[in-house]
Order: sequence, then structure tokens, then C-alpha cells
Amino acid sequence: MTTNVTRRAFLSTALVGLTQKAGRRIDGGFVNESHERGHRLRDGADFGGSREARSTSVLIVGGGMAGLCAARHLQKRGFDRFIVLEMEPEAGGNARWGQNEVSAYPWGAHYVPIPGKAAGLVREIFTDLGVYDGTTWDERHLVHAPDERLFIHGRWQEGLEPAVGPTRRDRDQVARFTARIAELRASGRFTIPMAAATDVTRPPAEDSLSMAAWLDREGLDSPWLRWMVDYACRDDYGGMARDVSAWAGVLYFAARDADDSGPLTWPEGNGWIARRLLHRLEPRVRTGEIAYRIEPQGRGWRVLTSRADWTADVVIVAAPMHVASRIVAGAPPVRVTSSPWITANLTLDRWPRERGFPVAWDNVLFDSPALGYVVATHQQLRRHVPRTVWTYYWALAQQPALEARRWLLAQDYATLRDRILDDLSRAHADIRECVSRVDIMRFGHAMVRPTPGLLSDPAWQAAQRGLDRLFFAHSDLSGLPLFEEAQYRGVLAADRTMQMLSGR
Ligand SMILES: Cc1cc2nc3c(=O)[nH]c(=O)nc-3n(C[C@H](O)[C@H](O)[C@H](O)COP(=O)(O)OP(=O)(O)OC[C@H]3O[C@@H](n4cnc5c(N)ncnc54)[C@H](O)[C@@H]3O)c2cc1C
Repeated sequence: MTTNVTRRAFLSTALVGLTQKAGRRIDGGFVNESHERGHRLRDGADFGGSREARSTSVLIVGGGMAGLCAARHLQKRGFDRFIVLEMEPEAGGNARWGQNEVSAYPWGAHYVPIPGKAAGLVREIFTDLGVYDGTTWDERHLVHAPDERLFIHGRWQEGLEPAVGPTRRDRDQVARFTARIAELRASGRFTIPMAAATDVTRPPAEDSLSMAAWLDREGLDSPWLRWMVDYACRDDYGGMARDVSAWAGVLYFAARDADDSGPLTWPEGNGWIARRLLHRLEPRVRTGEIAYRIEPQGRGWRVLTSRADWTADVVIVAAPMHVASRIVAGAPPVRVTSSPWITANLTLDRWPRERGFPVAWDNVLFDSPALGYVVATHQQLRRHVPRTVWTYYWALAQQPALEARRWLLAQDYATLRDRILDDLSRAHADIRECVSRVDIMRFGHAMVRPTPGLLSDPAWQAAQRGLDRLFFAHSDLSGLPLFEEAQYRGVLAADRTMQMLSGR
């Protein structure tokens, strides 16, 4: 009996998620949970629904950025015989967003750096969306100052490079690292999209060792520099420098211009882009429809989903590779490591107290396992914003991915919420008195982790080629979880589809 009561009490906190700690009620719960469906997919379950027979020329499976960009590219080329299938109730994938009475806010991706020379497609999409006119970027979409701050030694400082603490030796090493990165940038071997410089059939030497081993080799052991590099790897790849290849680690720094004036950002993060693409693509996007089996049929493909039995001439699989390799008959057995993540949106009824440099767009806590928070109301032009929403980012990078994933699924809402509030309370002692709601999203498989050797994996290389009349298009194919790579993969698959259909 006691067990039941305890369990019921536990469940009510886990699901409804109210806390009275520090006297204030905090609402919230887990949102966008999809691991049960994901596990059923992994276990080969039959999601068969009404079995409505449908056909289309091009079926795009996955409505994340890669799938939406593939669809938009087809549409811009005057081709409209396509359908996008998305398993979630809303499209957008890792660029999904939410909205409450205070602000729109991201659930995942929240910025796009100003594109470098190789990223012509990124300029193209932002021209299409009215953000770039061929020479200048619309300032409303560039991050407003101040963009970054760091909480260290009990107060906030401007920028992410620790101002107090590093010795002369540390600073010399940071300078040496910066110079080495400049050299590698000038070599032109590190680009975004990666395919502009990397031939996947001849992976670069940096793919075979970890970023940590590369730093060792360069004689760079400053703990402050190592913290900054670890932070970068956690931020972009959800892994530590020891778990990420030197190719990806170096690319993070060397593929971007040193004096980038961005990034581009919006209250709802990259959901701003997804929203506009969806507006142009509707009604060709079908949400809440999961594809669970894709097999060859005649000269095309048969795609079984929770709502229909589809036939298509060509299929673009823009679902993550760990899903694609299970549901597509004959798919190469790609085994990528995916990083587990947590994001949380906190609604604040007032701004908490703090010391030091004022609030920025991106706010990082030095000694935290998480990455800090981004302020959704930062881009507002109003001077006084009484209430706000913070998006808290936490890549579970410290443990091996599988262990972290199991830990994540075993946590109840109240435990995670308290971990988040405890972390923030180091910089904002009164955070619990300011927050009225904390919603948490758990991602078991958030993004591909570019582990050493990924580019040399024969299955991953085979996935680049696709199958007969089927192309893979997820950002996993670049080994880099970035908007630019998702867009590139989507556009490439759409171009190859058009070539195939026109018999070229
Ligand atoms: C927390 C977080 C923060 C991030 N921040 C940034 C950032 O600031 N900037 C940046 O550039 N990148 C960021 N990223 C990386 C982000 O993953 C990419 O930018 C990009 O959005 C990936 O798009 P995608 O289409 O390749 O993949 P996904 O977003 O993974 O889309 C795949 C889609 O396929 C759907 N799907 C899967 N299986 C099926 C099925 N069987 N049937 C139908 N549909 C299916 C999924 O539901 C999903 O919508 C972040 C990622 C996360 C997790």
C-alpha cells in the first residue's frame, strides 16, 4: 500500500509538475515526448492504420530542416508532385518551437551563423525569406548586443573567454590555438557545408583522432583553453572534445569567418525559418504520420505509414540515419552515435537578481554541466520587458551516450526541473521566486556526434550514394548537426531527384 501511495504521489509530481519549493508554485512537465514511438519503430512494430492507398511522385520522409528544404527546393524549381511526411504533430524536427503569452521560444536550434563563402545555399534561402538582399543582412535578424556573457568567480563578465583566472601561459596558448586555426581556415580544407572541401571517399587525417588528442599533439594543455574547446564541442555536437573527431572540432572554429557579424537569431530560434517554409509548403506536409517500412516496389518504392500505404517514384529519406537504417529495406547499416540532450523553457514573471555584466542573448555558466540559457525576448526592441522566457540547454556529454540516454529516460520531471533550477541559482539566487513555469523536453537521440572515424565508416559512405531512386538527406550525412548541413543535404537530394525524374 505504502508503495502505491508513494508511487501515486511521485507520479503526480512527475506528470503535473507543480512545486512549492521556496513558497512559489511552478507549473510544467515534460513536453514533446516521443521515445515510446521511437522504440516501437526500432523494434520493428507495425503502425498500420487505415491503409488508405496513396501515391505521389516524390515522397519525403521527415519534416525537419532537411526535409523542408528538399521540398522547398523542388517547389522553387516548379515541381509540386511531392508530399512531406512528419511523424510528430508538428514539423520542424530539431528546429521546433513553442509559444506562450510572453514570447515564442525554441525547443532546439536557435541560431544560424552568417554564411561563409562556401555556403551559397544559405544566402539563397535567406534571400527567399527576405533576410538578405544580396549585400546586406536585415539587422532585425542579427543578434542584438550584448550577445554573450559568462558567469565565473561569482559574477557575470562580458564574452565567453574568462577574463580573470588564466595566466600568461594560458593566454599564450589561446593565441597559439587561434593562430593555428587561422592557418587551417586559410587552407580551405574546413568548410560549411563540409562537402565543399571534404571528399568522403578520402577522409581527412583529422577524422581518425579525437579533438582532445589533436590538442595534445599541438602541445595545448591549458585548462582554460581546454574548457573553451570542450564547451564548443558540447554546444555544437553534444559531446566532449575527447569524444568528437579533430576534423569536427577544428571545423567548428575554422569553417566560420573570424569576424562574423552574426549570428542570425529569432525568439523562436530556427523555428522562424521552419515556420516560413511550412507556410510556403502547406498543404503538402502531412504531420502525425510515421513511416515504418520503406521497400522497393516495381520501379519505385512502397512506404508504409501509420495512415497510408504509399507508392512513390522516388523517396527522399530525411529522417535520422539511425531510423533510416532500420526502416529502409537494403539501407546501409549506419551506426552513428547520437548525443542525448535536454532543453527546458522557463517562464519568468520577473528578472532575477544578479551581479556583474548585464543580461545577454547567450548566458553561460562556467562550472556547469549544462550550456547555459538563451533569452527568447532578447531581440525585442522594447526597452522594458517585464516577463521573459529562457531556453536552457543541457547536452548530456559527460557520460557515454548510451549511459546518458538511460539516465535521461529514468529521471522524473521534478528531479530534472530541480537540477536545472539549482544550476541557475548559482548565478541567480532568487530564480525560484521568479519562475512560474518550467517545461522540459528530453531528446534521447538529439543529434549526430561526429566521433573519430565516422567519415571512414563504409556504411556511412554508402549512405551518401543512396539506393536506386532513394536518397538519404538528413544532416547526419554530413556528420555535423547544423542548419547549413541539413539544408545542403535536402537541396542535394532534391536536385538528384529532379535529375532522376528528368532521365538525366
Ligand atoms: C537542442 C538542440 C539545439 C540545436 N541548436 C542548433 C543551432 O542553434 N543551430 C544549428 O544550426 N543547429 C542546431 N541544432 C542542430 C539541428 O539538429 C540542425 O540544425 C537541424 O535542425 C537538423 O535538421 P534535420 O532535418 O537534418 O534533422 P531533424 O531535425 O532530426 O529532422 C528529422 C525529422 O524526421 C522526422 N522523422 C523521424 N523518423 C520519422 C519517420 N519514421 N517518419 C516520419 N518522420 C520521421 C523527425 O520527427 C524530424 O522532424 C540543434 C539541435 C538540438 C537537438
